[in-house]
Amino acid sequence: MNNVRNAQVAIVTGASRGIGAAIARRLASDGFAVVVNYAASSKEADALVAELKAEGAAAIAVKADVSNADDVRRMFDATEQQLGRVDVLVNNAGILKTVPLVDTSDALFAQTFDINVRGTFNTLREAATRMNNGGRIVNFSSTTLALNMPGYAVYNATKAAVESFTHVFAKELRGRSITVNAVAPGPVATSLFLDGKTDEQIQSFAKMPPLQRLGQPEDIASVVAFLAGPDGAWVNGQILRANGGLA
Ligand code: NAP
Repeated sequence: MNNVRNAQVAIVTGASRGIGAAIARRLASDGFAVVVNYAASSKEADALVAELKAEGAAAIAVKADVSNADDVRRMFDATEQQLGRVDVLVNNAGILKTVPLVDTSDALFAQTFDINVRGTFNTLREAATRMNNGGRIVNFSSTTLALNMPGYAVYNATKAAVESFTHVFAKELRGRSITVNAVAPGPVATSLFLDGKTDEQIQSFAKMPPLQRLGQPEDIASVVAFLAGPDGAWVNGQILRANGGLA
């Protein structure tokens, strides 16, 4: 049972499903009070909050489109009002649509940059003034950035931007004892990766790492828990590629 009253508070963006939901579960079981952020999946977010509360954790669901600066401000307001503080920010929310660059519409380009890059920018800027000294920030890149596969031009460009934010922001927070790192997963069995792929394509991705399987959301949640917890204190400004040895 967690000591809810004294719990450190973690905001996990995009925590209604996939990797974010696994991170919320793991951080709650590590003793954090957790903000389950989502944009559309309110049923899933509410069910997760109910599950975490049933296990003795403090948790709230907060609807906020991370690409919208006002929504993000309101998410930090709700966190401070209901949980009292912000100690950890996990910028997990993200989208992927694989399309050759030549076929990428203006709308898809804008949406991918808005959620993956502007979304991370919005929460980082808010965290700079609202996060406690000693806090932890974990951004989300992707191992696809190292693979340069066709169809990933725009997505990889957004993750390159997130890696740049990570390196620079770690230095801009000098004196605050706040670490800023990024996790760059390889393929993980979530709808972001699985949707639109044939079984054959999925199997071929699963065979790529020397560990010969897809990542599971819990594999990535463990890495985030390390960076957000006491053992990760001396890791700062780094990109941690959690991918079974793929690249
Ligand atoms: P997912 O299963 O598709 O889940 C995405 C989550 O992000 C959902 O909770 C979704 O909530 C939320 N979200 C989407 N747009 C949002 C917005 N504008 N504002 C707030 N929340 C939003 O994806 P995932 O596989 O867990 O991916 C999580 C992160 O890992 C992403 O940054 C992704 O790029 C990265 N990643 C994933 C893989 C992989 O193979 N799965 C590999 C490398 C990196 P709603 O349903 O409410 O919109």
